Amino acid sequence: MARPRQAAGKPTETPLQRQYAKIKERHPGALLLFRMGDFYETFDEDAVTTARVLGITLTKRSNGGANETPLAGFPHHSLDQHLPKLVAAGHRVAICEQLEDPKFARGIVKRDVVEVITPGVLLREGMLAPGRTAYVCAVRIEGDRAGLGFLDASTGEFQMAEIALSRLDDTLLALAPAELLVDKRQRELLPVMRGAPWVVSPVEDWSFGYDFAYEVLLRHFKTKSMKGFGVDEMRLGLRAAGAVLHYVSETQRGSLPHVRRLTRYASEDHMALDPQTKRNLELIAGGSGTEEGSLVGILDHTRTPMGARLLRKWLVRPLCRLDAIDKRLDAVDALARESRLREALRAELQHVGDLERLAARLVSGRASPRDLVALGRTLRQIPRVKALLEGHGCDTLRRVADGLRLCADAAERIERTLVDEPPANLNDGGAIRDGVSADLDALRTLARGGKEWVAKLQADEATRTGIPSLKVGYNRVFGYYIEITHLHRDRVPGDYIRKQTLVGAERYVTPALKEQEETILTADEKATRLEQDLFATLRMTIAEDGGEMAHDAQRLALADVLASLAEAAVRNDYVRPTVDDSRVLHLVEARHPVVEQALPPGEPFIPNTVTLDPDGVLDDDGDTGEVGQGAQMLVITGPNMAGKSVVLRQTGLAVLLAHIGSFVPARHARIGLVDRIFTRVGASDNLAAGESTFLVEMHEAANILHNATDRSLILLDEVGRGTSTYDGLSIAWALAEHLHETPGVAARTLFATHYHELNALEARLSRVRNARVQVEEHEGRVIFLRRLVAGGADHSYGIEVARMAGLPPTLIDRARAILAHLEAHAAPVEETGDGAGTAPPAPRPRAVDAPSGAVSSGDGAPAVAPSMPTARPTAAAAATAPPPQLGLFAAPDPALERLRDAVAALDPERLTPIEALLKIAELRRLLR
Ligand code: ATP
Repeated sequence: MARPRQAAGKPTETPLQRQYAKIKERHPGALLLFRMGDFYETFDEDAVTTARVLGITLTKRSNGGANETPLAGFPHHSLDQHLPKLVAAGHRVAICEQLEDPKFARGIVKRDVVEVITPGVLLREGMLAPGRTAYVCAVRIEGDRAGLGFLDASTGEFQMAEIALSRLDDTLLALAPAELLVDKRQRELLPVMRGAPWVVSPVEDWSFGYDFAYEVLLRHFKTKSMKGFGVDEMRLGLRAAGAVLHYVSETQRGSLPHVRRLTRYASEDHMALDPQTKRNLELIAGGSGTEEGSLVGILDHTRTPMGARLLRKWLVRPLCRLDAIDKRLDAVDALARESRLREALRAELQHVGDLERLAARLVSGRASPRDLVALGRTLRQIPRVKALLEGHGCDTLRRVADGLRLCADAAERIERTLVDEPPANLNDGGAIRDGVSADLDALRTLARGGKEWVAKLQADEATRTGIPSLKVGYNRVFGYYIEITHLHRDRVPGDYIRKQTLVGAERYVTPALKEQEETILTADEKATRLEQDLFATLRMTIAEDGGEMAHDAQRLALADVLASLAEAAVRNDYVRPTVDDSRVLHLVEARHPVVEQALPPGEPFIPNTVTLDPDGVLDDDGDTGEVGQGAQMLVITGPNMAGKSVVLRQTGLAVLLAHIGSFVPARHARIGLVDRIFTRVGASDNLAAGESTFLVEMHEAANILHNATDRSLILLDEVGRGTSTYDGLSIAWALAEHLHETPGVAARTLFATHYHELNALEARLSRVRNARVQVEEHEGRVIFLRRLVAGGADHSYGIEVARMAGLPPTLIDRARAILAHLEAHAAPVEETGDGAGTAPPAPRPRAVDAPSGAVSSGDGAPAVAPSMPTARPTAAAAATAPPPQLGLFAAPDPALERLRDAVAALDPERLTPIEALLKIAELRRLLR
């Protein structure tokens, strides 16, 4: 092929170049794989990209003149191997096929793009991860609102939403689309997000136009308005929905019959989880970025791909309606109790394939013979599942059974028509059973007879010629031939016609052989065509039940997830939580579901009890646990590595699990409905968005304060660590006060901190309680007990943990000396005002610490009380200069100490000007 990439119609262009240019023009932004014979070729920049991504050779073709065209190609059979790599690299790939057999083509072979694969539209077998939902999501922003439309082309799920712009990040992270469509002019309006899983595809602005988008929707659903979908008012959402439908339907050349409805994504029924909370709680991905070490890794005992997908959706969208939560809990409870039923159900589900995606492939005409056989087997499981759950006492389970349609006809038709193990490719023949069509049987007999004749010919000719090595072979160029090695050349009979000479042999044909070849090939070809017709008819007939199958798929997925949650509950010894509309959070002997399984053998997980009960209702049921009664906020202190973060996270996870309808890892759990879980954990930066570690921390804190309500749960694992000690402590102190005192944001809060000064809050704020994770000191070493008990801790043993981590002994000794010095010299900062506190508390010397029990004993006299602000700092107070920051490494310097002592000894009132000058000179000497 010569240079294909020239403007159409140039006089130097060949027809093939013109064809290429035209097709390329219709698919801007996509890599065009151009089928030429047995190869897919790419040209120009496409070739450069393809060669780079696939690591294949980039060649050049002369264009006749001075120009050379870059060219890269690969054999057609390696498409499945290369395509995923191109898409994973973020490219859209248009596959252009030859639409007619070159043998019969008049002039140039007809070609066109048959499919566009994008990061979000991957309908090819093997490219879709079974347990993942693959959404393409379009976003349209207007002012402070955003419209979203998202579609999973592999299942037909199609939803839209209109949300406040401020909730866009959360919503996108919850959906985790594979591909994000934006109007190319709005690209910079999108939030910059670390680790966002999607590829952004900018599209033309007109596809978001209201009239265009609405028309796309009407045409697809064949309706006169969108009123019937209950979304007619949501103009912004409709624009996004139309844009995404248009985009996906272009990739499929308009064929999306499995997209049957557009539903509203209702966020009010669901708990909002912000991105960092999803990440911090490691719901879907653990520390390594994979599912290992994540909650889903522990929880997923699903047996079907659609169940696996549904579980993941539930995990990132917990419910916040009591009735809905209870319905799920009832079903999980029933399946957890009834082991026989659960096991039987899971055993049946094991044989259920991906009905959701199979049904989608069926109705869009993509299902292969193997798909249909898998579909048939899956359909056969439906009556069994139905029988198991029919008439069950639990409403949810019974409804699953009642809702299942059997589709028995379709199953039977498939079994009757297709063989049990059909070939992957229909063209290979043999997918249709014998006896289905008399014509097909006859053609097959003919072809088979021909092949037998050929086999017999080989034996006969070997005998006749006396050449035992005589072979009859076949290739696509010469058809059938007789091959004789040069050794026996002189014995070749006269009626053989020579066709081809090889290095060691000659190939011949005979008229009789050619005649048989004609019969075999014609019969084979006719049989293949007939099989294709029969298969297409079968697929079309069954596709009539496609809607019912998609509907069944949802019910099976639901049964699967409920059984999976029950299985996890039984295996891991979880308990059914009581979820109610109180504000209680009472977890007795709770565990971290992931950490408890990751501990090395012999290291038991130590369960802990956490109780928050801001409204003091728990007395009624008598089981209040040891910490937190009457509390809205627990300030949790304890040494490094003690287990503070684990307590926080296990609490968050228990609350989340309860809200998806799962049992929780605890001995007893009562959880008042939570509208949102917030977490502020650890240090990380977002350099891509120009945010330092501390700024990220403050953004997260601000987000919490702006969005938390009395019903939220806040988990604060250190606040203010990214800045100087006094700044950090002041912020942490003020934040705790704010959450306690501000009406409307008095959320249940766990606050883990190394600022032991915060223990003083318990005496000042009525709903704050101190708790600490216990350790024991034994012969100078720390033993971690991992027990959460009442009272504050007094120090952090940070140096001890540094020693355990292997820092050099000389460094550890030096650190101990500095610490001793600091503790001896740091004094509480006195209040400067009239007792209406002005400054945050100063770090306390350890020497004056109260025993930790004193803080929780309620005697109201925390050791640092004299230096504590007595009220919340006012704006004016906040403006007062903060106390000097502790100069960590300056303090122990002997020269500085002498200087300090000399200055302290001065009495300016009694100095004459001359003496003052002399003193200054002396101080300078001291410094030197
Ligand atoms: P830091 O202040 O340094 O952040 P931390 O107090 O938050 O420390 P965690 O990260 O919660 O400490 O816990 C440290 C390790 O201790 C965990 O990784 C886990 O292996 C172990 N651990 C924590 N809690 C428990 C527990 N209840 N039972 C058993 N092991 C635990």
